[in-house]
Amino acid sequence: RLVHEQASYKHFLFHGETSKMATFRWSPFPRPQTFAEWNRPGVCGLDNSGNSCYLNVVLQCLCSTVPLVEHLLNQDTLFVRLLEEMWLGRSSSCAPLEARSVLSSILPQFNNYCQQDAQELLLFLLNTLHDDLKKVQQHTLLRKNEGCASIKQNRNCAADFTIVSHLFEGQLSYKTLCMHCDHQAHSKQAFTVLSLPIPTDIIKCSIQDCLSLFFEQTILTGGEQMLCSVCGLRRETVVLTSLDKPPEILLLHLKRWGETKHNLLRTNVGFSMKLDLTPFLSSSAQNASYSSFHLYAVVVSKREIH
Ligand SMILES: [Zn+2]
Repeated sequence: RLVHEQASYKHFLFHGETSKMATFRWSPFPRPQTFAEWNRPGVCGLDNSGNSCYLNVVLQCLCSTVPLVEHLLNQDTLFVRLLEEMWLGRSSSCAPLEARSVLSSILPQFNNYCQQDAQELLLFLLNTLHDDLKKVQQHTLLRKNEGCASIKQNRNCAADFTIVSHLFEGQLSYKTLCMHCDHQAHSKQAFTVLSLPIPTDIIKCSIQDCLSLFFEQTILTGGEQMLCSVCGLRRETVVLTSLDKPPEILLLHLKRWGETKHNLLRTNVGFSMKLDLTPFLSSSAQNASYSSFHLYAVVVSKREIH
């Protein structure tokens, strides 16, 4: 597990500090200790063909996610051959040609040599992987339950849950309060990535500041007012967001773009190797399995603005 962290850390060192977008992924694994462990299976560079660095960095992150790799090596998926190549330790680099070719065939917008958004790609890959694994699981369940009356029920409960949702999916809790009648309502929403706002009025902040801004109490007014089920009208509403279920592996995305394409937020966002999410947990999640995270991969996209 140390080796994988180093692979990602190495990548971060390659890409420098200013960025249009950065995705931080924290996991409850320990950080690397020495440089002596770099020459190990799993620490493998990916050749850049054209502008494929956005693809390579995302593949590096996914291939450095140990529980995901451990699971996928037993499956028949797109990543297996690439993973095997990276993990056999035969060479210091390899070309992810097959991954790129499959990606291009499924999603035409990636079928060129232009730079793409690494965060969009990461979400697309996780969704695709989740859907593929669901199909495999449904097929297995169908074969197992042939002739059984509860096939449909089994499909619904077991096959929708994959290693992707198990590792990356968390849950947010929303509490809303009507400012007219004080009616309270609760709702929950699953997430894979938290897209964090960046404070605009300062030069430097921390990732905790971005999280505090994300979870701070907000009042919805004007066109954003919510429909109150008691008043029967749209009312000004207070919204409290908290973390109901932290995922095992947390993906954070910094929203560096403002309202327009030319409005890039250059605020320096600092972060340490450890992240404590306890201040943002909901009351029911205080004993959550994962509330403290170790950073093991960073994607920094350094794109010129035209
Ligand atoms: Zn109301």
